[in-house]
Amino acid sequence: MEPTPVGRSRQYRTPVRRQQPAHRRPNGRRAVPSPVRRVLDALRDAERATRPEDPEVAAAHAARWEELPAGVRTASQLLGRRFTGCEGTHGVFPACNLGCEPCYHGKDANRVPVDGVHTVAEVERQMAYLRERRGPGQYAQLIGGEVSLLPPDAHAEALATMRRHGRIPMSFTHGDFDQDYLEAVVLAPDGTPRFNAVAFAVHIDSTMRGRRAAKQPRNEAELHDERARVAAMFEQLQQRYGIRSYLAHNMTVTPDNVDEIPEVVQVCRELGYRMCSFQPAAYVGDQRRWDEGYRELTDELVWSRIEAGVGRRLPFRALQVGDERCNRSTWGVWVGGGYTPLFDDRDRRDLPARDAGALAWWIARFLGRMATRATTAGLRGRRQILATTYVMHRFMDAHDVHRAWELLERGVAADDPTLRATQERLRACAYGMAHPESDRIVPACVQHSVLDPAENQQLIQLLPPRSRKNAG
Ligand code: SF4
Repeated sequence: MEPTPVGRSRQYRTPVRRQQPAHRRPNGRRAVPSPVRRVLDALRDAERATRPEDPEVAAAHAARWEELPAGVRTASQLLGRRFTGCEGTHGVFPACNLGCEPCYHGKDANRVPVDGVHTVAEVERQMAYLRERRGPGQYAQLIGGEVSLLPPDAHAEALATMRRHGRIPMSFTHGDFDQDYLEAVVLAPDGTPRFNAVAFAVHIDSTMRGRRAAKQPRNEAELHDERARVAAMFEQLQQRYGIRSYLAHNMTVTPDNVDEIPEVVQVCRELGYRMCSFQPAAYVGDQRRWDEGYRELTDELVWSRIEAGVGRRLPFRALQVGDERCNRSTWGVWVGGGYTPLFDDRDRRDLPARDAGALAWWIARFLGRMATRATTAGLRGRRQILATTYVMHRFMDAHDVHRAWELLERGVAADDPTLRATQERLRACAYGMAHPESDRIVPACVQHSVLDPAENQQLIQLLPPRSRKNAG
């Protein structure tokens, strides 16, 4: 899952059509937001994100809170209080044209044709269900498979469908596409923007095979140019069309690349990625692509590498998303060369603001402090002030999920400590996928470990051969 940056809700509005981006200067040049302007924008977003909830959202939160195991109903818990959890699509375009080691998708995923008509219809079905169960304003990933295998119009229509159902969508991609594709997604045929802003999560790391620019990368450094190329494509959207973007960077962590995390953190910070998310490799998905040593990657080891990249301790216990064994997150702001977390779990002055629910006030005060610091320091350059979130999300091994889920389905609490822990994590899951046909939302771990193989078989039967040509 991709935990939710505080203060980002509602910044992605419904599609608009306009001839000239409003913030363009008369000479046609882009008005680059100043650092102070960025802080004011962030303040506005934070204030909106923390307005009193509407009754539908409040009811969805209350229901989510009730579902959580007692052990995670803590003062720091965001699920059921600030949001109901991240959401992701499934069975909409399972195929991918790169090969990851590991790959969380079933071995038959690439036999499912990419079909834009199917994608949009299935997104509609899943999002309508999520809207009903979880209310509006929730974060949802358009994820497969590889989203850029969709025809651009289908990709755009899927995003518009998600927004129509009150989701805040993020396209999950390997990023191995060109500017032309991106523009075809975000621009209508007449050249006007379909969206004010877009969000993409870009998975780039050395576990991936077949990328055009680096078919078999030996290390993370060989991929920095790709990280820069992708970031530059989204900057072009802002400069040419006034379309803002939120870019997250995802990296699968293995024993081979764990020590390269600090370098990746620094490069992503320089390139302006707003979220840096790390997924320690798990034994899930296509068994042919598993390797040894994944279990050596302890939470402490991976998190310490992220901290080394940021250059400071990253407090993650002040705000929690679901179960700590699944997710660690730190929200904060870079000002010049230093990163300041929003909350410090060891600073007693921070916790009363959180516990009293005075989050809006606290964020406003925090960002105001940052603005003052930036102004005092005379920061003017791009990316001198950058709100950035650091995340670690640890999927579980399919073997454990299979057994734990089977017991949960029968209402049996596991005795075995490993399975009991797995059940606790599944019940506190922060990354759900909709199954309207069985009237439930299942954890992504269950989707990939238990449900994907049969679902892929059904899709292979369902989708007509013409779809094999990426029919839109
Ligand atoms: S249960 Fe699985 S999908 Fe859900 S938050 Fe934990 S690791 Fe992620």
